[in-house]
Amino acid sequence: MTKKELEIALRSACPRSVAECTNEELYTALLSISQQAAREKKSSQGKKKLYYISAEFLIGKLLSNNLINLGLYEPAKEILLENGKSLAAIEETEPEPSLGNGGLGRLAACFLDSIATLGLNGDGIGLNYHFGLFKQLFKDNKQSEEPNPWIQEVSWLTKRDVTYKIPYKNFTLTSRMYDIEVTGYNGRTNCLHLFDVETVDESIVSEGISFDKTDVAKNLTLFLYPDDSDRAGQILRIYQQYFMVSNAARLILSEAAARGSNYHDLPEYAVIQINDTHPTMVIPELIRLLITDHGMEMNEAIDVVSRTCAYTNHTILAEALETWPMEFFREAVPQLIPIMEVLDDKIRRKFDDPSVYIIDKEDRVHMAHIDIHYGFSVNGVAALHTEILKNTELHNFYQLYPEKFNNKTNGITFRRWLLYCNPQLTDFISRFIGNGFKTDASELEKLDQPAISCNLKHLYRLLSIKEQKKAELAQYLKETQEIVIDPDSIFDIQIKRLHEYKRQQLNALYLIHKYLEIKKGRRPSTPITAIFGAKAAPAYVIARDIIHLILCLQQIIQSDPEVRPYLNVVMVSNYNVTLAEKLIPACDISEQISLASKEASGTGNMKFMLNGAVTLGTDDGANVEIHQLVGDSNIYIFGDSSDTVISRYRKGDYCSRFYYENSPELKEAVDFILSKEMLSAGDAECLTRLYNELLNKDWFMTFPDFNAYCQVKEKALSDYEDRASWARKMLVNISRAGYFSSDRTINEYNRDIWKL
Ligand SMILES: *Cc1c(COP(=O)(O)O)cnc(C)c1O
Repeated sequence: MTKKELEIALRSACPRSVAECTNEELYTALLSISQQAAREKKSSQGKKKLYYISAEFLIGKLLSNNLINLGLYEPAKEILLENGKSLAAIEETEPEPSLGNGGLGRLAACFLDSIATLGLNGDGIGLNYHFGLFKQLFKDNKQSEEPNPWIQEVSWLTKRDVTYKIPYKNFTLTSRMYDIEVTGYNGRTNCLHLFDVETVDESIVSEGISFDKTDVAKNLTLFLYPDDSDRAGQILRIYQQYFMVSNAARLILSEAAARGSNYHDLPEYAVIQINDTHPTMVIPELIRLLITDHGMEMNEAIDVVSRTCAYTNHTILAEALETWPMEFFREAVPQLIPIMEVLDDKIRRKFDDPSVYIIDKEDRVHMAHIDIHYGFSVNGVAALHTEILKNTELHNFYQLYPEKFNNKTNGITFRRWLLYCNPQLTDFISRFIGNGFKTDASELEKLDQPAISCNLKHLYRLLSIKEQKKAELAQYLKETQEIVIDPDSIFDIQIKRLHEYKRQQLNALYLIHKYLEIKKGRRPSTPITAIFGAKAAPAYVIARDIIHLILCLQQIIQSDPEVRPYLNVVMVSNYNVTLAEKLIPACDISEQISLASKEASGTGNMKFMLNGAVTLGTDDGANVEIHQLVGDSNIYIFGDSSDTVISRYRKGDYCSRFYYENSPELKEAVDFILSKEMLSAGDAECLTRLYNELLNKDWFMTFPDFNAYCQVKEKALSDYEDRASWARKMLVNISRAGYFSSDRTINEYNRDIWKL
């Protein structure tokens, strides 16, 4: 579409002249134009098709992303500008789809972008949650939750005439498929299929996000990860998961048949990527459908399905590996029980190691075990993570099936995380190395050349882009959240789900330490702004307490005129993709401080690096690979190694109090949690609980890393003062980020697993 054609299309899609339209009207018009343009692109084809099934797709706003991928972004921006309109203001009216929670869902979204961009035949399948995860608010320095109703009259969802009858024990639900077009960058258009149930009733939600968990017909697709701290909540997860995979299985079988499959040859027509364990029931469900609807023998059905399904593991945290009591399945989906019993029985006959059984002696079903035994591929998401799976966490399985295990280091789409969110940096890069990096990210390496890194003018240009992004962020936070930050300070950012293993509490302890240092007269040469963004799972008490600690600290520091000019702490509310797109380009120091061995990969770390932030982190997840790529002098690594941590867990002799007693700085920071300043800003019960948790448990071992963290952070802050040498570090980081393009990741999935 040329600019002229776009102008004509826009004029006919708008109720008035462009100049007279509201931003909402222009959003509606641009949405329908880009949907139309997306549909006119060839969809990917081929005999074999990939189905990426995931409980989450954290896709972010779509308007600009689609305009960029369709080649319409610049012309649209110009036309709007000529009419006194701003694309950025129009975008503000777009609600962000709330279909994900964190890294896993964002990964699925980046993968869909790359699959379409590379022209591969593959669609996503998930659920259409009406209220998503939740909207986070802060009240009295605490998190509170509200529904996040993101589906409006005008939306990217297209209602399709695909519906299925999904059977449960006592009732049947009728499903409906909705599609969102997935545009590739100068590429094909694929689909994200989201299943919903027509009887869902938004009015049953009250008091924040509570609702009747037993009324499945009304509540099934209200929320992503509804509270599962009680039995009804846990069974609801089974209802949701089965709904997702039963719909998926039916769609996959009917599409495969339409492409010519006779089901016996299904693996030649379909490959299913199971994103974490939530879609695991697709294995027994497909087997069941092949037997009951298509007359296949049990053994053949198991064999066919096992050659069709591949599993991605995202975590080694034991509590995150799903196991469900058999009675839950008996109550919700009894039709799967005979299949699961056969699957377990075959394993018991073959191996006599109870640790690999599917159903354990407590009659619980280990979902990951189904995936590993009855899938043909098991992949981890970063080199270290895959090694830990093979050597420790899934070692017994690795010995049975070494050939199934493989690594696929995560990646991010550069279209959203560079071209869209940082056009200034994109232009800077293109000026030196052309546009090739936009489709072949490895070309970014060309940026690391003496003509740039030895030229002060170019280095200062890079720094001034960072300054501009910091000023833009400051403006945005002021307008949208009434948060005031100083754009001339160092922006130190930790944004990710709130979890003890990610160790926001370690960062908070450092900030307490820094606060006390400043009180003692030791002031930093450049002021520091520490920015947090994180949602805590509503039932995760300690995570909520950590948010409370940070918000109290924010209040204390902001109201202390002695400290405030040198240190600021802010926590943005409702961290999501839209905020990430503003925060990441503005970051100087990227906090990636998980306990070594616990962060499977991380992808936030990659987005920051690509935008010229320098990582302060542990040798964990993909940080290890970032470290190798940029070298010791362009990253700040600290803390105990994953080997040390794993052996400490094995010995079970960790005692946080020992570190507390032996480090005066640590003791002072921890004690401050119960200081009179803190207690007057916050809630004694929450603060005491957190204090006791740290002193008596500290399961994710923040204390042993505290001194090293403070030391290396001081080094990073002082290195920041030498602006030219800092700019060189930024340049090295950007130039080595090419490896983390999701195009590279997807090419590897296709080469080793999907073979499309
Ligand atoms: C990238 C991203 C994540 C993942 O961040 P990690 O630091 O890898 O945990 C989570 N949420 C949003 C909104 C993201 O964009």
